[in-house]
Amino acid sequence: MVSSLDIDCLNLVIEMKCKYCNNESNFQYCDDVCKQEYEKFESCCEKYKYLFLTLIVIEILGFLLVTLLTTSGDFYLYISVWIIALGITMYVFPFATPETIDMIGLKKCIKLVRAISIGLCVAGIIIAVLCTAHLG
Ligand SMILES: [Zn+2]
Repeated sequence: MVSSLDIDCLNLVIEMKCKYCNNESNFQYCDDVCKQEYEKFESCCEKYKYLFLTLIVIEILGFLLVTLLTTSGDFYLYISVWIIALGITMYVFPFATPETIDMIGLKKCIKLVRAISIGLCVAGIIIAVLCTAHLG
């Protein structure tokens, strides 16, 4: 038999939190909804991780090529396209590191990554508009 005091101590040590929404929970997930959302994300990661990595590698290579090869005034226009592409990739695949997911929960991670991705898209659009206005 385990006394309730022991269970309290155990909980203090483990500090169980829902893996999805990061709320305090006695189990890995607070309910089936959180469990389903987490598993959906995990299978999505598994399914698309290579596509995601490929896109990121292409985008980094594209960025390097633009930086090295472009000398004209189109530079910022290319950069804006690159920023928007990165933003869209992050929005479609809101993948975060396992450490971040453990720290703030998956739900907040997805929100955070999507907020950053929207910020990137907006920044890219602003740069593109400024460039076009400047060039025109
Ligand atoms: Zn939860």
